[in-house]
Amino acid sequence: MKSHKAVVKVMSHTREHESIAPLVEDLLRRLGEDPKRDGLARTPERVDQAMRFLTSGYRADIQKLLNGALYEVKYDEMVVVRDIEFFSLCEHHMLPFYGKVHVAYLPQKKVIGLSKIPRIVDVFARRLQIQERMTQQIAQTIQETVQPLGVGVICEAKHFCMMMRGVEKQHSGAMTSAMLGAFRDRKDTRDEFLALVNKSNGF
Ligand SMILES: [Zn+2]
Repeated sequence: MKSHKAVVKVMSHTREHESIAPLVEDLLRRLGEDPKRDGLARTPERVDQAMRFLTSGYRADIQKLLNGALYEVKYDEMVVVRDIEFFSLCEHHMLPFYGKVHVAYLPQKKVIGLSKIPRIVDVFARRLQIQERMTQQIAQTIQETVQPLGVGVICEAKHFCMMMRGVEKQHSGAMTSAMLGAFRDRKDTRDEFLALVNKSNGF
């Protein structure tokens, strides 16, 4: 897969701030519901708020997020952050997909604060996504900002669009990976990462 630029604005700017509440009200009506009944009266507003949050990754500023969190060190062993939970929305159905991301990199002079890695995952998860692109974007962003010898990202996820509709395969998961630099070129590096990830209890 060719690299995607990490911080791409994909939304049109013009209508980005308009409330989607009226659309949700119309959606409820078209689904045969009564948007005025008690339980639904405030639903359009809630959906507006929820969707803003679930797509807040579009408005995140990676540079600002990582500000001051890069440290010069001599450490040159693999850094692994395993089992990072994420929740995203598939862009084909706007239904959730969720799971875990495992991230590793091989430092070269610089490391990044460990707590920043889950934050990077959130930036790309909180958008309309496909799992493959999200995995690639996380790897690419770490490669560009930390400039390590290589980055490996593995993502395991379950997709509601598969579980609730269509094939209705409740237990099927999808796995994607992105390997850059040493993780792509060196089998021993890749194997070390995979061994560390496989020690996890599974998903
Ligand atoms: Zn889907």
